[in-house]
Amino acid sequence: MRGVAVLGSTGSIGVSTLEVLRRQRDRFRVVALTAGSNAALLAKQADEFRPSFVGLVNGPTTGLAGGRTGAGGLECLTEAATRPDVDIVLNAVVGFAGLDATLAALRAGKRVALANKESLVVAGPLVLEAARAGGGELIPVDSEHSAVLQCLTDRRSPPARLVLTASGGPFRGWEPERIARATVAEALRHPTWRMGNKISVDSATIANKALEVIEAHFLFGLRYDQVEVVVHPQSIVHALVEFEDGSVLAQLGYPSMELPILYALTYPERVPDSGVPRLDPVAVGQLTFEPLRTEVFRAFSCGVEAGRRGGTAPAVFNAANEVAVAVFLAGSVPFGRIADTVERVCGQHEPGPVTSVDAVRAADAWARARARESLA
Ligand code: NAD
Ligand code: MG
Repeated sequence: MRGVAVLGSTGSIGVSTLEVLRRQRDRFRVVALTAGSNAALLAKQADEFRPSFVGLVNGPTTGLAGGRTGAGGLECLTEAATRPDVDIVLNAVVGFAGLDATLAALRAGKRVALANKESLVVAGPLVLEAARAGGGELIPVDSEHSAVLQCLTDRRSPPARLVLTASGGPFRGWEPERIARATVAEALRHPTWRMGNKISVDSATIANKALEVIEAHFLFGLRYDQVEVVVHPQSIVHALVEFEDGSVLAQLGYPSMELPILYALTYPERVPDSGVPRLDPVAVGQLTFEPLRTEVFRAFSCGVEAGRRGGTAPAVFNAANEVAVAVFLAGSVPFGRIADTVERVCGQHEPGPVTSVDAVRAADAWARARARESLA
């Protein structure tokens, strides 16, 4: 029986994770839960799963089943992630806020099932070093990266090239002028996935796919010219892995996060009672692929460029994007301003080396301030 801490349990991935764990009660026990501010849902989850630790970042948890006493604070994430009864930390926090918990869990030798791709994007070298130093294990939850991992069956055959698929988002066939004026409701109407607001907007700007290219670079140790993106509107093929001899493997499944979540928990094993609907290829019908319009989706191009520049550039890209997305979601600026903002802020940045969390934090704070100025 392995203990699981679910960080961000009230979000889209958190709720799917608890759905998976409800079916896997004989293999895993939920020992810690944390949330940002949804106290009501957290209380309900705590009542059902009876974890030994419950943390709420923006409020007190006194009175909750398993709740720690006193006020909240970000420290409850690292506290949950490093507890002795925790074997696996499922980090489903959104944004930069997830970084400390990823690092602390890896240093403490835990398996990190990583949905919070931002931690790897902003501090890739530190995350890999934390895993080496502490003996922790980093397993992706992101469906594309889970697909790649599932295709890598033999360490003697390293991948030569990855192709990550993208649905193309809600603005796939749209004219650039119409995209620039898109509303919040339009940006949140994702064609194939149901997700939290931030990643839904990232999927509309395609910034999400840039974050995923950077994530793949660090996870699989590949150069940027070995990681490509192709638009696949049906979201059935999650990634393609090409080997040295030109052979290509793919992983297929309906667009649901439950399988990648479960696989990150059971890896390298598979379990028969996954509850995942079986793929019917005839019902799926056509699988189509087309190029990504990189000149239209400038946030994507800017993010990949930040990855190539390296050092603190990805942290700056991520921070500018987080600020711009929040301001867009508040209804204060049109959709086109997100790409304008990340381009402007990244253009002003001279990347430095990622030598410490402080260096990353400084780059993050610098970019947030520049982004706010640019959006004012
Ligand atoms: P969400 O917005 O639905 O949930 C985010 C969770 O994080 C919530 O529980 C919230 O309370 C918590 N949170 C927010 N801000 C916090 C803070 N400052 N401190 C602590 N906790 C905080 O987001 P989501 O869609 O579940 O995505 C979570 C992560 O998983 C993101 O990094 C996203 O990119 C990644 N991801 C999501 C999907 C998906 O299908 N939703 C797929 C792949 C990867
Ligand atoms: Mg993904």
